[in-house]
Amino acid sequence: INVDPIKMDDNKKIIIGSIINIEDVTDKVRLERMRSDFVANVTHELKTPLTSINGFVETLKSNSGINKATRMRFLEIIEMESNRLQRLIDDILTLSFIENNQSSKPNYEVNIVDIVKNTINLMDNMAKSKDISIDFNYNKEEILINCQHDILTQLVLNLLDNAVKYSNQGGQIKINLLKSAGKILFSIHDDGIGIPQEDISRVFERFYRVDKARSQKAGGTGLGLAIVKHIVISLSGKIKVNSEVGKYTEFIVEIPLSDQDKD
Ligand code: ADP
Repeated sequence: INVDPIKMDDNKKIIIGSIINIEDVTDKVRLERMRSDFVANVTHELKTPLTSINGFVETLKSNSGINKATRMRFLEIIEMESNRLQRLIDDILTLSFIENNQSSKPNYEVNIVDIVKNTINLMDNMAKSKDISIDFNYNKEEILINCQHDILTQLVLNLLDNAVKYSNQGGQIKINLLKSAGKILFSIHDDGIGIPQEDISRVFERFYRVDKARSQKAGGTGLGLAIVKHIVISLSGKIKVNSEVGKYTEFIVEIPLSDQDKD
């Protein structure tokens, strides 16, 4: 609140009233806090791999007697941490790109059926290495969405990547894509480790992981679902997650269709 005294005459200094400006700053403060939390988190997340890389480089430089096997192990850690840095930077850039382009949709449409098929192919090696099967059911060969190709791919890839990452050996992943009168329903179901009830509402937060060690071991950045949430918002859609620990996890995305796409 700013109180500004109005003086009638500067010499006499008589106060005849006040102008009170009341501004609701709750949203501004909240946004500012989110921004500074994000910067603090990003800094921490970037520093961790860098500290590890510097440590191993120093050790290699100052110990000329390290045997070949140990040297290789240290170099592999440096490579792994550099890759993690790369993924983090890519994810941060993607998130900021989506946030800044939230209202601008392209004037062309992409076929999400093809995007899901291509994404399954991309994940094929990783799924096979864990003996995981991926089943894809869809009710139309062509389901068009007004979105950039790479952005829609990112949405499907992040959800499928998680389903594979958090599935056990020999797991089953089921993807369903349905176009009905007014909307598109897209769901990914896995029979993996599941998410505890108390964590479900937080998994879309930036850098939130149920089990940080497990996520990092699987190559996660903690930004995958934050990216997914923002893409869904940019499509005016909704996302929901159902899960039970040790049994299953299912992400359901609902995207409304524009009038011309309804049939
Ligand atoms: P990460 O890079 O850690 O995978 P995400 O933002 O993609 O980050 O996901 C946030 C957290 O949600 C993960 O760390 C994991 O604990 C949990 N999670 C996401 N998808 C699944 C899934 N399909 N099954 C079990 N847990 C999941």
